[in-house]
Amino acid sequence: MADLIALRDALSGFDLDENPNSVQRKSRDFYWYSPVLMEQLKDVCADLVVTPKDEAELIEILKICYAHDVPVTTRGAGTGNYGQAMPLEGGVVLHMKHMTAIKSIADGVLVAEAGAIIKNLEIAAREAGTELRLFPSTTAMATLGGFIAGGSSGIGAIRWGGLRTPGNILRVRLVTMEAEPRIIELTGDDVFKAAHAYGVNGVITEIEIPVDPAVDWCDVLIGAPDFTTATKISFAIGEAETITKRMVSTFEAEIPAAYFNRYTEFTVPGEAVVAVIVARADLEKLETLIDETGGSMRFRADRDIGDRRLPAVYEYCWNHTTLRALKVDPSLSYLQMMLPHDDLYSAIARVKADFGDELILHFEMTIFAGKVTAMCMPVLRYTSAERLEQLIVTLEHDYGVIVFNPHRVTLEEGGMKKTDPSQLQFKRETDPKGLLNPGKMIAWTDPDWRPEPGRAYLFNR
Ligand code: FAD
Repeated sequence: MADLIALRDALSGFDLDENPNSVQRKSRDFYWYSPVLMEQLKDVCADLVVTPKDEAELIEILKICYAHDVPVTTRGAGTGNYGQAMPLEGGVVLHMKHMTAIKSIADGVLVAEAGAIIKNLEIAAREAGTELRLFPSTTAMATLGGFIAGGSSGIGAIRWGGLRTPGNILRVRLVTMEAEPRIIELTGDDVFKAAHAYGVNGVITEIEIPVDPAVDWCDVLIGAPDFTTATKISFAIGEAETITKRMVSTFEAEIPAAYFNRYTEFTVPGEAVVAVIVARADLEKLETLIDETGGSMRFRADRDIGDRRLPAVYEYCWNHTTLRALKVDPSLSYLQMMLPHDDLYSAIARVKADFGDELILHFEMTIFAGKVTAMCMPVLRYTSAERLEQLIVTLEHDYGVIVFNPHRVTLEEGGMKKTDPSQLQFKRETDPKGLLNPGKMIAWTDPDWRPEPGRAYLFNR
């Protein structure tokens, strides 16, 4: 165990938080979305929170932590859902909240420090006549660094694909965890060494992303007689080349009826819903498409808001859907998965017939491998950890579903199902002592690990 008194002394010149309550708060993220992680991670807590004011301070802090063998877990805004930003082995939480500068917006490129709040980037980009390609539904809180290191997709995915799509992250600048920390700039495909790596192989300080000419957008809600029709409407919108859109989300009728609170007046009981962010210039084309595909326009922000102060529609979509549901019924949870694309409608029918209301379906439409694809983020009626494991195994084995398990804290088990060798190799180069966000990359301690249905990797505490 590191000598905490010596560490505190060495860090005393920096913005240091030792208050047990706020250290506890800053050691947590939205892990409580998962009842499994809530139990597993409830006692996780850092020893100290240190907040660098710039890259030079950040380098000094990492140097001190390295010398004292202290783990460092970087924190953006702590909106990750899988305990990504939680310091499993204690030590230091490195808070990025002071590193928020927007360095430049020019020639279709935005450069900002990693702690910048994404919404502020969109505001600045719009002032320059441009807009972001992609942002999470937590844009009001989440940082750019946290999105790149922990997120995967979001609003914009129906137009530009996810963060993994080449061209959506242009450059990542990071600092290594070594006796003499180095600055490394990653470009091209190399950005994926550090993107979605949970900060295990470097602390990102600056990011370059593309921006595109700004579009005047409008929020829309469409009603459909059933979920299959709603899904077909969603694909039709997604695939319509003449309609510019930023988001297409699809919900079974139970979700808007029970969880859409301030939008409930714009929904009809029993109707499935499609939520769309569409270019204002293409609203009439969208109206025609809705008529032709059996939907009904239920809400158009340009026509229906009146005096109301409504949240943006995207704050009911992506992972906000689960948040809205949890606020009504804290016993609920969720899954993230992909139904077989070529057999989608019979897969929907089979899942509904066999699991009923245990899984209430919600799709986010995205461009994946060049095609409009439905990412499924169902609300889950959670009963027990055993049932959850059994459900995941059954969905994967008997229904051809790919589950990106959001009830796991490691990179391998959550999304990729295998180790990313380039991320592991990069960690060997950037973090030789394994001090960055320990416990999140299984391969670091167990290079031969292979996923096994129903088996969780247990981190050492
Ligand atoms: P944090 O939670 O603080 O960190 C996320 C991970 O990145 C952690 O592993 C952390 O250690 C690491 N990290 C943070 N900053 C750095 C850095 N500078 N260098 C290295 N590593 C770093 N995600 C999506 O992809 N799309 C969505 O639409 C979406 N919607 C959401 C809705 C809700 C209601 C919630 C609760 C979550 C949602 N998420 C979504 C997950 C999460 O909000 C996003 O991933 C978000 O971008 C995380 O940003 P953050 O600043 O909060 O990161």
